[in-house]
Amino acid sequence: MTEASSSLSAATAAAVVQALALRELRLTANRRSVLAMLEHGERPLTTEEVAAGSGVPVSTVYRNLAELVDAGVVVRVAGAGGGDRHELAEAFSEHHHHHLVCTDCGIVTDFTPSRQLETLIEQEVGALLASEGFEVAHHVFDVRGRCRACSSVRR
Ligand SMILES: [Zn+2]
Ligand SMILES: [Zn+2]
Repeated sequence: MTEASSSLSAATAAAVVQALALRELRLTANRRSVLAMLEHGERPLTTEEVAAGSGVPVSTVYRNLAELVDAGVVVRVAGAGGGDRHELAEAFSEHHHHHLVCTDCGIVTDFTPSRQLETLIEQEVGALLASEGFEVAHHVFDVRGRCRACSSVRR
């Protein structure tokens, strides 16, 4: 678990301040703590995990995350059952990656595919404009299965 003292990077904070200003929201101390947890987390975090790590009350984290999702700063990550998980939007984290979703415990971990696979995905997806008239903004590619802890318990 990331310690609560980890602070939001200056570059991320500056970008977030601009995005929030469009919604007449400020980067309060609580929002800053919530975002720092997501920035330094190694995987998408539940509301409870953000609250535990930041020391911000769960109800406040819940409300802040909803506001930050509306502002496009944070994205909800589809897990498998259980509570919502959250991460910094890629425009703010500048870290394009994919997710491994455990269908047993619901944990979501980040993974970065090889450059070759990423290039292949970009090419295939980019061709959709010509074939389907579909203008691609970005892609999401989740892999579902069982995490190491869950797959070692059974079988
Ligand atoms: Zn699992
Ligand atoms: Zn990708």
